[in-house]
Amino acid sequence: MIEHAEVIHRGDRSGNEMAVRFRLPSGLEIYGLPTKNFYGGHWDLGPTWNYAVLADRPFLVDAGKFGQGNRLLAMMKAVSISDTDLDFVLISHSHEDHDGGLAELIEATQLDVKAHAIYDHLIRQYPAQSPEVKKKDFPAKCWHCFMPESFYSKNCFEYHRVLQGLTVNVIGNGQTQLGPDVHTYHLPGHSPDCLAVRLGDEALIVGDIILPDISPWPTRKAMFDEVAQVIRPAYTDAAAIFGLSCYIQSLKKLIRIAHDHPELLVLPAHRLYYNDRWNPVDLASRARQLLAHHIERCGAIVQILNSKPKAAEEIAAEYFEDRLLEGYGILMAANEIISHCELLMESGDVIRKDDNRYAASGGTQFETHIQNL
Ligand SMILES: [Zn+2]
Ligand SMILES: [Zn+2]
Repeated sequence: MIEHAEVIHRGDRSGNEMAVRFRLPSGLEIYGLPTKNFYGGHWDLGPTWNYAVLADRPFLVDAGKFGQGNRLLAMMKAVSISDTDLDFVLISHSHEDHDGGLAELIEATQLDVKAHAIYDHLIRQYPAQSPEVKKKDFPAKCWHCFMPESFYSKNCFEYHRVLQGLTVNVIGNGQTQLGPDVHTYHLPGHSPDCLAVRLGDEALIVGDIILPDISPWPTRKAMFDEVAQVIRPAYTDAAAIFGLSCYIQSLKKLIRIAHDHPELLVLPAHRLYYNDRWNPVDLASRARQLLAHHIERCGAIVQILNSKPKAAEEIAAEYFEDRLLEGYGILMAANEIISHCELLMESGDVIRKDDNRYAASGGTQFETHIQNL
């Protein structure tokens, strides 16, 4: 069991549709309201943990995946929270399992939406700039998506339409104060617009920046090129908002936050409860574990490349278990490998050949490189 937590409704063994109240020493109450989030396959993140924070200006963090907005409102109602009690909904980042439910939520409540400034750029459509004709009605944040037409034609068009017309109160870079004891931090890498929310010295809502049990996937630095025109002139440096190195810098910022605020209860967006057990997060040690995980993965990739040059998919096939490579799995796995290869190219340990295969240079500077980031 997590400290300060009281289960009000039991969910299933993954935690779907639980209701949990966290009552912190100052009297601040936060409700954890995990909504269903399953796309099929073996890459199950578990439900999306949305949080209702009953601060001086009460607010909601995240809206669940597409189709879960009304369900989230019903779950709030069951614990006596009405949307009229809330001031705004803050979106932790632009992934669909966090802002998909906005379509229903906004229609039913007219809550103000707050999110990072990059979110406000990436949710819009720019038909003339989309990388493929079939994606001209996609928001810029979805241009890199590799799901097939059978998936997005069923799941995404209404979501895209609602985002297009959304009014967003934007939050800036670095640390921003939203209320007397409410601060946000821009911690990109998993997504360029990731925000964490700190409630005094008591709690940190981290979205997908840190998760227990599983490692959040890092973006690829190359994703910047695709949306560069859309987010210029405010953002011109790919490495500042995309890629594994950027994500690692965010992990290091979290270690500093943990040092300055050692008592924080960490509230992640997935897996807080999963497989019938709680997964408490110690901020500094989980961040260090994830750093070690990425160092280890870089080492494994260099090993795999030592025999001969390989494409990302070949490295993925050697590195990941077969069941993780089924269906869309191979695409997610290759994405993960490419983001590590980008870092290994920065450290000089890997080079990319003209045919897009990666080759080991013979160096092993990645650990020093990661430590110096
Ligand atoms: Zn995410
Ligand atoms: Zn997520």
